Amino acid sequence: MNIPESSYPRVVIIGGGFAGINFARKIANKHIQVVLIDKRNYHTFQPLLYQVSSAGLEPDSIAYPLRKILKNHKNTFFRLAEVESINSEKNELMTSIGNISYDYLVIATGTKTNYFGNKSIETYGMPMKKVPQALNIRSLILQNFEQAAITHDKEARKALLNFVIVGGGPTGVELAGAIAELKNHILPRDYRDLIPEDMQIYLLEGSPRVLPTMSEHASKKASKFLSKLGVLVHCDTFVKNYDGKRVTTNSNLELQSETLIWAAGVTGNPVEGLQADVLVDRANRYKVNEYNQVEGYDNIFALGDISLMQTDDYPNGHPQVAQPAIQQGELLGKNLVKLISGKPMKKFKYRDKGSMATVGRNKAVVDLKRFRFAGFFAWFVWMFVHLMALVGFRNRVIVFFNWGYNYINFDKAARLIIRPFNKLN
Ligand SMILES: Cc1cc2nc3c(=O)[nH]c(=O)nc-3n(C[C@H](O)[C@H](O)[C@H](O)COP(=O)(O)OP(=O)(O)OC[C@H]3O[C@@H](n4cnc5c(N)ncnc54)[C@H](O)[C@@H]3O)c2cc1C
Repeated sequence: MNIPESSYPRVVIIGGGFAGINFARKIANKHIQVVLIDKRNYHTFQPLLYQVSSAGLEPDSIAYPLRKILKNHKNTFFRLAEVESINSEKNELMTSIGNISYDYLVIATGTKTNYFGNKSIETYGMPMKKVPQALNIRSLILQNFEQAAITHDKEARKALLNFVIVGGGPTGVELAGAIAELKNHILPRDYRDLIPEDMQIYLLEGSPRVLPTMSEHASKKASKFLSKLGVLVHCDTFVKNYDGKRVTTNSNLELQSETLIWAAGVTGNPVEGLQADVLVDRANRYKVNEYNQVEGYDNIFALGDISLMQTDDYPNGHPQVAQPAIQQGELLGKNLVKLISGKPMKKFKYRDKGSMATVGRNKAVVDLKRFRFAGFFAWFVWMFVHLMALVGFRNRVIVFFNWGYNYINFDKAARLIIRPFNKLN
């Protein structure tokens, strides 16, 4: 791997997501050698992936090179590789580019899409967890528009223009709103040979309301905003199957659709090698104590989505969102320095800063500890929070400019099929 031997202890981080980069930033420039390994050479700002899928933003405004994040950090190295397994007895990792030893290991590998065992949905559905997947969705939406414009068969045209989104959490709601904006503002201008009413956006949610993890107030407002945009919301609806053409559900709703976007769940993305009982079955997350130490290991830590810290306030672990990952990464950065210098570590306590989701171009819902609000002001708050959270000044400026331009012109500037998506069927 070409990492120099050093007299400092070596900390290896697997994953440059929110948890990994915030940990790396806090532990930088200390008497510690830090090696960050990721299978991608960039950090992905997942909360805005849906804007790439719906042609609102270019992918490079929500992704940021990991080497650039680390460029001023002394004794810090980045390696582009996939970690394949951990040998905890030898304190060694096996990766796609060779082996590396560690004194301390930090696992921050996040989650992957969960299809709940349905192979057909896995084959034909469109996940949205990574930048290339968001680009696939963008291409498919635009390819469907192009195909619909030359299709004479009415039913086939409808199937091309039926977009089914499964999962009414923030991701599904935000994506449904953004695709509705394409229908309302782009289709009538760019595709004058299509009838906008032929395009339908379905949002299917298994629980009784959209945004089930937010307040009832947020759910009601989001449903109202979605229906104003023309999105057809079906709650208490579980998708049973999708064969690339037809969606079947438990509520006997059947839809003909060339596009099913799967935003219905995630599961942990662990690395092979640790004792099986440190993983919690259903969630695939590592059980950690209040210092993020993986159960049974003194020098192995897990952070963010992949970790499961059960506390009185969070008996099922913290929510799998950015804030716990960021806060755990920052605290472990300080704690590891303490541990190495023989000082006591501080227990993790999650500060819930609230949750929010945007619906369309100028509406959002926000749940804070004491206040709940929705509408235009909420959308403003949503924009500000997301802009500030983006990594890199350049990305903030570009996204700000894009949003301003889109808002004034009702436009989505990234309507490009750069790399056509080939459906299997
Ligand atoms: C579409 C979408 C929208 C979201 N919207 C929001 C939102 O609005 N607000 C919010 O708070 N949260 C949101 N989230 C959740 C949030 O993005 C996650 O909670 C957060 O990214 C978790 O951070 P993490 O560091 O644990 O993992 P991640 O950010 O997922 O990072 C994991 C990293 O590990 C790397 N990796 C994985 N396995 C390996 C391996 N074996 N070898 C090498 N590298 C590996 C990956 O390449 C990745 O870079 C959203 C998530 C998605 C998918």
